[in-house]
Amino acid sequence: DILADQIAAGEVVERPASVVKELVENAIDAKSTQIDVTVEDAGLTTIKVSDNGIGILHDDVKLAFRRHATSKINSRTDLFKVKTLGFRGEALPSIVSVADVTLQTANKTELEGTAIHIKGGEIKSTKPCASRVGTTITVRDLFFNTPARLKYLSSLPTELANISDIINRLALSHTDIAFSLSNNGKVLIKTAGNGNLQQVIGTIYGISSARQMVSFNGKDLDFTINGFISLPKLTRASRNYISLLINGRYIKNYKLTKALIAGYGSKLMVGRYPFAVVNIQLDPLLVDVNVHPTKQEVRISKEDELSELLTQSIAKRLEQENL
Ligand code: ADP
Ligand code: MG
Repeated sequence: DILADQIAAGEVVERPASVVKELVENAIDAKSTQIDVTVEDAGLTTIKVSDNGIGILHDDVKLAFRRHATSKINSRTDLFKVKTLGFRGEALPSIVSVADVTLQTANKTELEGTAIHIKGGEIKSTKPCASRVGTTITVRDLFFNTPARLKYLSSLPTELANISDIINRLALSHTDIAFSLSNNGKVLIKTAGNGNLQQVIGTIYGISSARQMVSFNGKDLDFTINGFISLPKLTRASRNYISLLINGRYIKNYKLTKALIAGYGSKLMVGRYPFAVVNIQLDPLLVDVNVHPTKQEVRISKEDELSELLTQSIAKRLEQENL
């Protein structure tokens, strides 16, 4: 149902950066070790995501574009222990309902790959293709059939900044994947994928920033925390340099952000915020990720306990630096 897909697209696909997020998350879920994102005109003309993941079996390709078709959960109980970034089966049908999309994919168990072309939700063609194992998806003319959405977009630099922000967060949360992002042929981000978080931080925020950050950790019965935080002399006027990751998923959470800042006590100047990358590991049963279509808002059980642990871990670490 193309109309239903377009309505869902209103929630899932707000702007080029949302498309990039969904496609790269799919590549991550497909166990890729290298993900290359190439956009033209901040994604308005073209968004191409190429991965070396498991690919999609020939017979499953059409299914992948059907609403609520997901290969990632099989039952209602799976919904309470989601380990993949995707699980709603909404992204691909939403994206193809508002763009011109081609996908080439191959799985190592099959001799040929599959190429499919879908525009505005209609399948135009499917054919076999010779392809290396993995998936390449190209999204052209985003919002060609939803002019109101197209008009609402910001300037190209702002849209590109949003895309960079998404890749930054995904690179910070998946240090063992080599990411690249380029726009109109210019490379903007390139990470090594060697598992070194401080190195990724250096790539994204600059080496001198990375040098002013220290690793920290904390643990209690329910939560394990680790990551890097800046010393109080490295701050910005925006909270945007704080990344909270729950079981590898980048999330937005006001309370935890506040708890992190509280760890600095009076060491931060008013209106200044630290750099931080915080990995929080917990039993998936303690977190509900099925709160919002973009999956950036989550509900955490024992949030107060986690907040307290975060504040204490940071305060303790900064004390060790004699600050
Ligand atoms: P979800 O990620 O919530 O399952 P999507 O609409 O994003 O839903 O994707 C639908 C399905 O298509 C996925 O469950 C997966 O099986 C398949 N898929 C999408 N992208 C890829 C990819 N890059 N590599 C392998 N499989 C993919
Ligand atoms: Mg997905």
